[in-house]
Amino acid sequence: ESRTYDVITLGAGAAGLFFAAEAGRRGKRVVVIDHAKKIGEKIRISGGGRCNFTNIHTKPENFLSQNPKFAISALRGFTPQDFIGRVEKAGIAWHEKKLGQLFCDDSAQQIIDMLVDDCRAQGVVIRMETAVEKVSRDGEIYHVSTDAGTFTAPALVVATGGKSIPKIGATGLGYQLAEQFGLDIIEPRPALVPLTFSGDVLEMTKGLAGVSVEARVSADPETQFGKRKAKRRTEFSEGFLFTHRGLSGPSILQISSYWREGGSVTVNLSPEKSVYDALRQRRAAGGKVEVHTALGEVLPKRLATSLAASEGWRGNLADWSDAKIDALAQRVHGWAVKPAGSEGYRTAEVTLGGVDTNGLNSRTMEANSVPGLYFIGEVVDVTGWLGGYNFQWAWASGFAAAQAV
Ligand code: FAD
Repeated sequence: ESRTYDVITLGAGAAGLFFAAEAGRRGKRVVVIDHAKKIGEKIRISGGGRCNFTNIHTKPENFLSQNPKFAISALRGFTPQDFIGRVEKAGIAWHEKKLGQLFCDDSAQQIIDMLVDDCRAQGVVIRMETAVEKVSRDGEIYHVSTDAGTFTAPALVVATGGKSIPKIGATGLGYQLAEQFGLDIIEPRPALVPLTFSGDVLEMTKGLAGVSVEARVSADPETQFGKRKAKRRTEFSEGFLFTHRGLSGPSILQISSYWREGGSVTVNLSPEKSVYDALRQRRAAGGKVEVHTALGEVLPKRLATSLAASEGWRGNLADWSDAKIDALAQRVHGWAVKPAGSEGYRTAEVTLGGVDTNGLNSRTMEANSVPGLYFIGEVVDVTGWLGGYNFQWAWASGFAAAQAV
């Protein structure tokens, strides 16, 4: 068996498989090497098993990176519509859930099958359960030593993803290779991850585990991403959930990408309804009603009771002045809490940071200083919001590299 190819791809995940099929379509002989047993595990567990495979509203603003402009070219070169075209051609039924998020009607396995079938059709060789031992560059040629022999090619595409969910095969190989070849790394950190708490707030979230509201969440601008002061406060209006360890739900996962140690997170627990107006109306309606009971008509009852207990809001609403109601309302609309940390890579959906885009060509994903070496997908310092953006980056960056190899 010849182990000489046009391109060696490390990682048979979203970016690696998509890249390989596209490069194959251009006539390249491609091998994909992955140490995992099962192919595309992260795709399989994505989107609650239905794979949120893109977002129709994808814009560069939906991504975090030290260089916010880096993603523009690749995202323009392969759009959500382009990916929808592939999905439809493969006969996969899909729907928009909300906020432009597209999911398979049936199963994420359909996306894996589509990618693998396309690879097969293009003659791509996929080697699973193959451990990478060493990568070297000799003149123009890359050598990848594995437990199944050495593979050689004039191009090496690193698509090994981030560090999230080590249980299904995530490793830091991509970062190690970047360093080996002299590229800079923006320090990786878990993102799209539940936030954990200690002390009184933890006691409160434990007591409320399972309670959810639609909230609007923002991060303390002083500590926002990259220490740069945000011009605009980044905020997310989505589901919000109390858990045994702290806070979760889409709005918290989103803000976790912007939160930094020591910073606080501000939660508007009733973004759609003015608590001040609601309580004043309730008071005007007359009769005896406990403050927490009245608040329980705006918020979930358990949450209202817990907040009232921790804040010391008690007594008959009729005895509450406008000023007191206003102070209470401001607390509900701006509940500020300081996370102790996050649940980490064990549950993080993505890894923030990665290969510094300053070292990469934004049209091709090739390393500026190392011809033939490419980085695509999550290993690059481009991280999407929750909602299908991370897969769109995997497809778009993979497509860009495939046109260039
Ligand atoms: P991956 O898909 O992670 O693939 C990397 C591959 O490299 C893996 O197969 C791995 O086995 C292999 N690899 C790693 N290290 C080595 C090594 N040392 N040797 C050989 N092979 C190696 N994004 C969305 O857009 N929509 C969603 O619905 C969504 N849901 C998610 C749900 C969960 C629970 C998680 C964890 C993530 C979710 N994401 C979602 C994020 C998305 O899955 C990733 O951003 C995306 O898979 C990244 O693609 P990738 O190809 O760069 O990396």
